[in-house]
Amino acid sequence: MDAVTRIKTKTPSPYKITAIEPDTHDTKTFRFELPADATLDMLPGDFLYVHATIAGKSVKRAYTPSSLPGVTGFFDLTVKRYATGVISAYLHDQRIGDTVLISGPNQGGHWVDGMAKRVGFVAGGTGITPMIAIIRWILTKRIDAELFLIFANKTEADIILREEWRQAVREYPNFHCHHVLEQPPPGWPEGTGRVTADILRRHLPAPGSDTCIFLCGPPQMVDALETTLKELGYPEQTIVLP
Ligand SMILES: Cc1cc2nc3c(=O)[nH]c(=O)nc-3n(C[C@H](O)[C@H](O)[C@H](O)COP(=O)(O)OP(=O)(O)OC[C@H]3O[C@@H](n4cnc5c(N)ncnc54)[C@H](O)[C@@H]3O)c2cc1C
Repeated sequence: MDAVTRIKTKTPSPYKITAIEPDTHDTKTFRFELPADATLDMLPGDFLYVHATIAGKSVKRAYTPSSLPGVTGFFDLTVKRYATGVISAYLHDQRIGDTVLISGPNQGGHWVDGMAKRVGFVAGGTGITPMIAIIRWILTKRIDAELFLIFANKTEADIILREEWRQAVREYPNFHCHHVLEQPPPGWPEGTGRVTADILRRHLPAPGSDTCIFLCGPPQMVDALETTLKELGYPEQTIVLP
């Protein structure tokens, strides 16, 4: 078997964009080129920094690759554009063939094979991004674990990778998904409003020695739900933040 080069850098290096796929009205997936025999040296959930000089100031922001860890030749970042966002707007203004300065990977709240048999994911908006690679990894590697995703968004149009979650529910009996919308369309059959203790109780695996819960979203949501999870009996060390 050919040797694979595993890439991890502390200093920013230029990576060329080879494809840009729109996902929702404000989210795109950017594909970056790696040498054909190279992969990022990361576990699912680890993150990179995108660096840029904007208006004379050096800025960097964290992004978790959404591509499957271990793939060679490329990696993907799925990025939501914020109207007043510095780096997200900069990325969304890039075109195929442009290069972007990126460093890492760095250790995030990642998945390690065997860490749990029942895995809950509570995501708000772009909080799904650290979970994409983890969910894809566990499902495609057929790892023995049951997955429970609660995904909160404002509207149906904001759901990142909507079709992938629908497809995964059909394809993998061990994947369960519950969407919660603040502004649901008429007749919406799933959760509405904010994520509550009751929604967590119904749609997550019960606390236990073989259970862990990944939690990521806007800071107020994470603070509130971390407290709620602890009140529901999930020990602090089983709640994984990005
Ligand atoms: C470990 C980690 C991994 C991440 N991975 C991803 C990823 O894969 N994809 C992705 O799109 N983002 C990801 N993020 C968020 C990302 O790092 C930036 O915070 C985001 O892109 C906004 O940066 P910006 O420079 O565009 O906006 P900024 O200039 O920092 O902020 C501008 C405005 O946008 C609003 N804003 C910024 N971030 C958020 C937010 N998360 N929720 C609500 N409002 C916000 C602020 O209120 C502010 O007014 C990750 C964050 C962390 C910590």
